[in-house]
Amino acid sequence: MNKPGDHFQRLMDGYEMFRAVEYERQRERYARLASEGQRPPMMVIACSDSRVDPATVFHAAPGEMFVLRHIAALVPPCEKDGRHHSAAAAIEFAITQLEVEHVLVFGHGGCGGIAASLSGCFDHREEGEGGFVHHWVETIRPERDRLEETMPDASEEERQLALELGSIKLSLARLREFPGVGDREARGVLHLHGAHFDIRSGTLRMLVDGDEEFQTIAVDEVEKV
Ligand SMILES: [Zn+2]
Repeated sequence: MNKPGDHFQRLMDGYEMFRAVEYERQRERYARLASEGQRPPMMVIACSDSRVDPATVFHAAPGEMFVLRHIAALVPPCEKDGRHHSAAAAIEFAITQLEVEHVLVFGHGGCGGIAASLSGCFDHREEGEGGFVHHWVETIRPERDRLEETMPDASEEERQLALELGSIKLSLARLREFPGVGDREARGVLHLHGAHFDIRSGTLRMLVDGDEEFQTIAVDEVEKV
């Protein structure tokens, strides 16, 4: 087999390791999931960032999480315009077909998409040269503008964290605009949460089921569990 390079070979080596170890260890689980289909209790909306795989951070097993990943873990506005909306399709499928019990919006520290919104580095770019990213992160512009007004003297680091957390809250509010979400939440069969993972410290901030403010989960508390 041709080997396009070390990084590609890394994929093949990883697959071999997966088949030999993880797949073998969970063979029964995979067989059951194949015959019964998936029934994940949770949807996670996460960033595409290579450092923050939700299945790794939450130590999830196959079949446990229905995951949507894209830049900055944003929930865009619900737009019923007949166009191609991959995020809306995934949310609709999770809510109405899989009937997940929980949706978690999972942001993270040092998010490049959030930084792009703050810096405006892709503003006025053509699609293919940053324009797609610009249009995407424009969906959190209301939150960015609100922060610019409420914390004008904040440092770059403070603004970055504030927008990372604020965009999670905005995404949760937007989730409630999708058909069926508010109704299911009111009936207590669906719960919406936010989380923010700090890559450097491993710290997790959680916004649980209607909480107004994030609670930090200390690492030593996690280790006691
Ligand atoms: Zn990110």
